[in-house]
Amino acid sequence: MKITIVAGARPNFIKIAPIIQAIEKKQHEGVSISYRLVHTGQHYDKSLSDTFFEELNIPLPNSNLEVKSGSQSVQTAAIMIAFEQELLQNSCDLVLVVGDVNSTMACAIVAKKLNIKVAHVEAGIRSGDMTMPEEINRIVTDSISDYYFTTSLWANENLLKYGISKEKIHFVGNVMIDTLYQNINRIKKPVFWDEYQLEFENYIIFTLHRPSNVDDEQSLQQLLLGIDALDSDKKVIFPVHPRTKAILGEKKLNFKNIICVEPQGYLAFMYLINNSFAVITDSGGISEETTVLGIPCFTMRENTERPETQLIGTNTLVGIGIEKLTQIYSSFLKNGKRESGIPELWDGKTSERIIDILLHQN
Ligand code: UDP
Repeated sequence: MKITIVAGARPNFIKIAPIIQAIEKKQHEGVSISYRLVHTGQHYDKSLSDTFFEELNIPLPNSNLEVKSGSQSVQTAAIMIAFEQELLQNSCDLVLVVGDVNSTMACAIVAKKLNIKVAHVEAGIRSGDMTMPEEINRIVTDSISDYYFTTSLWANENLLKYGISKEKIHFVGNVMIDTLYQNINRIKKPVFWDEYQLEFENYIIFTLHRPSNVDDEQSLQQLLLGIDALDSDKKVIFPVHPRTKAILGEKKLNFKNIICVEPQGYLAFMYLINNSFAVITDSGGISEETTVLGIPCFTMRENTERPETQLIGTNTLVGIGIEKLTQIYSSFLKNGKRESGIPELWDGKTSERIIDILLHQN
């Protein structure tokens, strides 16, 4: 069986790493399965791409479509044009896409129109928020896939509601958590740990990159000043995403607690998360990782496509303004961590389940 695996952006690289390992394990067992890795080039900064390939031992891509940045439509179109050529020149039995970025949707459409089967890993999650580009990517990808691999039974329900037949839906768990378990003993102190005199469980990690939070410069600045004043006892480590950096420009804001750093590699970032007091973020993936690590996570969004991180895990939605965050954070300081657990099948074996299912059904 020949699989073309697509990855375009930072969270994709983290998700494909264990899937590739699961395929290679089968190859060593003598099973006839091969893969071709296609990097669309959606994220191309070293800190968002190469670093993850190196740290997670992902083989170099067989092909890089080098689409780079652009508006939603320009980028999606560029990926589709380049990926069609890629598939015409390199045939395969199945295209596997992960997550909800533009590459996920664009490559699923191209494959399907060439009558190639599509597997979607992390299918069925929904925020209900159609202003999120990711929500559109999820809905379109899930309307044409052949295999739906889900992280929760709630995602299964969503797919059934959309009319997807039961046989195509496979609740397998979370590949992002496979990567976390595979690397938890390799996480490492970031280079700036001593310089900033960080102490275990005494700093906050803060990330922000969603258009709704960062695209308006004024409100972004207000929000950052609010976060800076949130807790005078704690430093706030802020790995600044290139999108956020571009909006802030060269402007130097005068922070008391926030320390801006470059986007971190996976191993340093997970070290920072694992030893933090709390996390404030608008990322979906980080709310899953903090759930497994038992670190309180405050998500600066009005909705989440990952409700299990709230219902079972450590995640609390705090909206997009500073007032609600300040209120919720104060009561957290008073009451401490709430009890949490790990969602079903988030056990580090998801990628193996996916490959077993694909091998049995082909
Ligand atoms: N991440 C990282 N370094 C950073 C920030 C994030 O390694 O400086 C990892 C994080 O642990 C998570 C993934 O990147 O696994 C999430 O990516 P992002 O927030 O860009 O995407 P989202 O989850 O919102 O789709």
